[in-house]
Amino acid sequence: MAEIRVGMGYDVHRTEAGRRMVLGGVVFEDAPYGLLGHSDGDVVLHAIADALLGAAGLGDIGQHFPDTDPRYAGADSRKILRTVADMVRQAGYEPVNIDVTLLAEEPRIGCRREAMRAAIADTTGIDPARVNIKATTSEGLGFVGRREGLACLAIAAVKNALFSGCPSSSPGRA
Ligand code: MG
Repeated sequence: MAEIRVGMGYDVHRTEAGRRMVLGGVVFEDAPYGLLGHSDGDVVLHAIADALLGAAGLGDIGQHFPDTDPRYAGADSRKILRTVADMVRQAGYEPVNIDVTLLAEEPRIGCRREAMRAAIADTTGIDPARVNIKATTSEGLGFVGRREGLACLAIAAVKNALFSGCPSSSPGRA
């Protein structure tokens, strides 16, 4: 029988004018500002990476991709998330699903929701139907409401790949 484990992730990035806004691996060309970060500042992919690492018991993104490492300066966060998905599989787990809540006054994700979903599914190697993206404003309250930063919450489930696909009635299997 497969073991299911869940992990949570949370990330915040400060907004900065003149930076490119990348969310969930998708560029928002018309956003009035981007997100400051050592990498491309993709707050959505960072939250997902932490959720997957947490589910597999592998620590957090800061341990594996320190912001002092020049290899990740300006990095495409899809590269980070792809590496995390590989680490999760190497640890014997298969990602099951990912659910995300982005906290932002803007941009509205609207028509890019499906593109984000596709990018996250492709990067993690799971079916797009197992990726869900939600967004909410902060009703003008706090740092998100003042447009000083964006925050993202993510949760991910993984299953123990070593046992997946084995019939539960299979005799002689531990
Ligand atoms: Mg981050």
